[in-house]
Amino acid sequence: MMEYPLLLRSMLDRAYKLFPKKEVVSRDYSGIYRYTYADYYRRVCRLANVLKELGVQRGDRVASLAWNNHRHLELYFAVPCYGAVLHTLNLRLFSDQLVYVINHAEDSVIFVDEDLIPLLEEIKGKINTVKHFVVMSNEEELPDTSLGRVHSYEKLLAGAADSFDFPDDLDEYSPAAMCYTTATTGDPKGVVYTHRGLYLHSMCVGLADTLGLSERDIVLPVVPMFHANAWGIPFACVWFGSKLVLPGARPDIKVLCDLIVNEKVTLAAGVPTIWMGVLAAHRQQNYDFSSVRAFICGGSAAPKSLIEAFDKEVGAPILHAYGMTETTPVALVSRPKSYMEDRPEDELYRVRAKQGLLVAGLEMKVVDDQGREVAWDGKQMGELWLKGPWIAKEYYKDPERSKPAFAEGWLHTSDIVTVDEEGFVNISDRAKDLIKSGGEWISSLDLENTIMSHPAVQEAAVIAIPHEKWVERPLACVVLREEHKGKVAEEDIIEFLKDKVAKWWLPDRVVFIDEIPKTSVGKFNKKALRQQFAAGTL
Ligand code: AMP
Repeated sequence: MMEYPLLLRSMLDRAYKLFPKKEVVSRDYSGIYRYTYADYYRRVCRLANVLKELGVQRGDRVASLAWNNHRHLELYFAVPCYGAVLHTLNLRLFSDQLVYVINHAEDSVIFVDEDLIPLLEEIKGKINTVKHFVVMSNEEELPDTSLGRVHSYEKLLAGAADSFDFPDDLDEYSPAAMCYTTATTGDPKGVVYTHRGLYLHSMCVGLADTLGLSERDIVLPVVPMFHANAWGIPFACVWFGSKLVLPGARPDIKVLCDLIVNEKVTLAAGVPTIWMGVLAAHRQQNYDFSSVRAFICGGSAAPKSLIEAFDKEVGAPILHAYGMTETTPVALVSRPKSYMEDRPEDELYRVRAKQGLLVAGLEMKVVDDQGREVAWDGKQMGELWLKGPWIAKEYYKDPERSKPAFAEGWLHTSDIVTVDEEGFVNISDRAKDLIKSGGEWISSLDLENTIMSHPAVQEAAVIAIPHEKWVERPLACVVLREEHKGKVAEEDIIEFLKDKVAKWWLPDRVVFIDEIPKTSVGKFNKKALRQQFAAGTL
């Protein structure tokens, strides 16, 4: 067969040639902006000419600090197809982390959404490698800013030619994109995605048993484009010619629900907190979500109660998926096998609440502390290890932290899981979040999921608190649904759990709080909870 490099260039080319009429919808500063893949392609070419003009060289890191919008999508293809590397900056990082990642990646240009300029103004004296800032807004005029060497995106594009000869001599293993994942301790860790990895991951996203993303879909990535490539959705949508709906700056739940209804979205992707919000809004407003074929839910465990509520109240299923920044990210998807369909309803919900089956294209094993593979019995716990063409091989310029995480040619995920007889993986915890009580493990995720099935509970997170005798014991932090606030007591939650979990799993304390703190990518921030409820502060 031919030697054929797997490059993003051919994905872009297909959108232009086969789907020039298909739409990209972008919520921008003045409302809803629509254009076609033909317009998109021409602007990507203009942008590539701009990169040349700005002196960007092959392999240079070009950063974006942006929401999910059409300009960000233009960067997604222009930068890698040009031969440079798109570094998507997480706009929710603390400023010292932002400084670290920009300097560590040695970004040469930063493209920034107009309303995010203050984030860069704050750190401009500390970032050493950036030669140009490009402001993305609807105007050609620049806003007032203290940033130096600053240009207007629209002005640059207007002055550039709308065709570009993208290089076809790139190595498929050359870097196309990168992003940083926040670490439990220390600075964020950089993950580099190659053209080949993104190409094969996109193909996998299209498989019927993965997300089955196709030309017919109308796709709303709620997950930010700076979080693991918005789970690869923008790359796959452009390639397949799927209509993309980009929700723009600070989309609230109402904006999302309206976009789903108005654009007739078929596939939406986000973390569980988003879908909990959508469920609460639906209970009030009764939105028509009949166009949706699946709400993809990942990044944190999808509670069984949420999956059930979406089936029964919203009328569209949650599809539970698992991945990490290091895995591009899709690695597991939970869909019961065809011969399981006549099993009792409750059992099927339990299966769908697991993280699921390994997607085609990857390999996995689950090993105990001695490095031995554990039995697939749904009981024995071990660490999930992954390998495959879209799994990172190291952290960028970080040999010390790469060594343990990528030893023996596998990614060690730090997720502690069980695997059942059918091969469904179930995460018990992040290694650091497991609760070790009297020498036995308690799964905080299982406990949280059970608490969240209480009808009065909106959200629940369980953390370990130090205990003199048992070393650690579980503490449940519970947010009640608005109408139940003040009406549910600690004992009610414990009573509810009694016939559902082992006696020694019952939390020592249940505290009611207004909100569970979230991380920069919308997950429960257990580190913050542990600090808040450190010994003695209860
Ligand atoms: P990040 O790289 O920020 O996306 O975080 C990856 C981590 O999120 C994984 O290692 C898991 O601990 C967690 N995670 C992702 N998806 C799921 C899921 N469906 N259920 C439980 N945890 C998840």
